[in-house]
This record gives sequence, structure tokens and C-alpha cells, in this order.
Amino acid sequence: MAYWDKLTGRGNVEDRRGQAAAIGGGLGAIGIVVTLIYSFLSGAPIDVAQILSQLQATQSTQQNLTNKDFEGADNYEVFASTVLGSTTDLWKNIFLQNSMTYPEPRLVLFRVATTSGCGMATSDVGPHYCPSDQTIYIDETFFVELQQRFKAKGGDVAEAYVIAHEVGHHVQNELGIMDQIQQQGNSNELSVKLELQADCFAGIWANSVNELGVFQSGEINEAIDAASAVGDDRIQQSTQGQLSPETWTHGSSQQRVEWFTKGFDSGDPQTCNTFS
Ligand SMILES: [Zn+2]
Repeated sequence: MAYWDKLTGRGNVEDRRGQAAAIGGGLGAIGIVVTLIYSFLSGAPIDVAQILSQLQATQSTQQNLTNKDFEGADNYEVFASTVLGSTTDLWKNIFLQNSMTYPEPRLVLFRVATTSGCGMATSDVGPHYCPSDQTIYIDETFFVELQQRFKAKGGDVAEAYVIAHEVGHHVQNELGIMDQIQQQGNSNELSVKLELQADCFAGIWANSVNELGVFQSGEINEAIDAASAVGDDRIQQSTQGQLSPETWTHGSSQQRVEWFTKGFDSGDPQTCNTFS
């Protein structure tokens, strides 16, 4: 367990985990929204049509949780807010050094499905970032899946890396990088570059909190292991038994580890130019 209590900043976290998903009434509106989200896993950017097709299945698994189950800030909410706060401290500073202001992202905790600026956030797609409302959506039961389905070791540092990766997408959004990519047609190749840059930005964050003495010796390996577990080649190998790199959207295990480590070692966003 890392020394998270060394971090004093807090992020803007909204807890919707006890709320029933507002799926039914919103479908018409969702149908006309065409917008992309940026997921931690393969398959992103994902368009809303894909998400819609998953909704049927999602609805049937809706859990019976109420607001009462999430009264007060539980451990995960405090953790998410602390990690998010530390990313804000970092990026605020970096933006300031470049005479820019950094608008803080929001983080919404939910279960199964919730409305988002990108139409609908569902657990199926994993943690993701919606540029339209500058919000990260996380159903933290994903981290059980990360260990069981993706065979990652897991751990709090791995979970923090996922948040930092999504914040990386927020940074890309604020810098106009996402718009540029969309204008260039959103190919898989560009998607990989975007994702590897988000991993590198997560590495920059890891460097910043490591300097504050947050990680215990070797704990950074939890994040490296998670980056490796969600490489497109490893996921493809386990789901399809064969590799087709032209369909990759996030990069191989080796690439994800390489770019995260680049950021972690340098602490300098200049090293995160995956587009050069
Ligand atoms: Zn991503």
C-alpha cells in the first residue's frame, strides 16, 4: 500500500454508485449523439452505437444497490479523490509553466451504467474519459476484472495508474491533441499513439508522486504490470488466440510499458511525443 496520505490535494469526485442507471428514457437522445470516448482498454475510441448494443445486456445485470450503500466517502472514493487531486497538482503546474490554465477534470463513480456527456457510460467498456464533459467514468469493480480476466497483479498503485491514464486523455483534450487526431480521421495507428501518450503522461504523474515519497520500494511495478496486462497483444492472444496488430488501438504490452516507463523516468512531458 502506497503512502497516499502524503498527498493533500483532492479532486472533484461525484459518487453515483447508489443511483439506478437512467437508461430507459435517454435512448432517443443518445441515438443522435455521435461522440467518442477514450477507454483504458482495447477497442477505444468507441463510438456510441457500440455502447448502445451493450445496453440490453447491461440492464439485465443492474444491481440492487441504493444510495444508502454509498453514504459518506468510502475508501475507494477517498482514494480516487486523492489520486485525482495529485494529478491536478501536477498538471496545473505544468500548464502554468507554459502560461496556460488547467481546467480540472471531474471523476464520476458509477455502477453498471450512468448518463454522460458522451451519451452513456457503461461498465462494459471499463474506465474511460469523455471529452465532451471533461469527465472520467469509473466503475471500480473493473479492478477485480483487471486481476481475474486480464491477470494483472492489481494493487492500489495499479488502480492509481488507471486514473492517471484517463487524466492523460483529459490533458490531451485540453491541449487540442484529440481534435487534431479526429481531424486526421481517427485511424487505429493514431489511436495507438494517443493511448501510448496517455500512458506516458501517467508515467509523468507517477514520477511526481514518487518524488513526494508516496511509493514504497518496488510498488511502481504494480503499474508496470497493469500496463503490460492490458497490451493489445496480450488481450488478443487470450481472447482470439492470434495477433492482428493492424486492429490494435492501445499498443502492445511492451509499448505500453515502454511509454509509461519513459514518463516515469524523465518526469518531463516533452518525452511523451508519441506522434513524432
Ligand atoms: Zn486510454
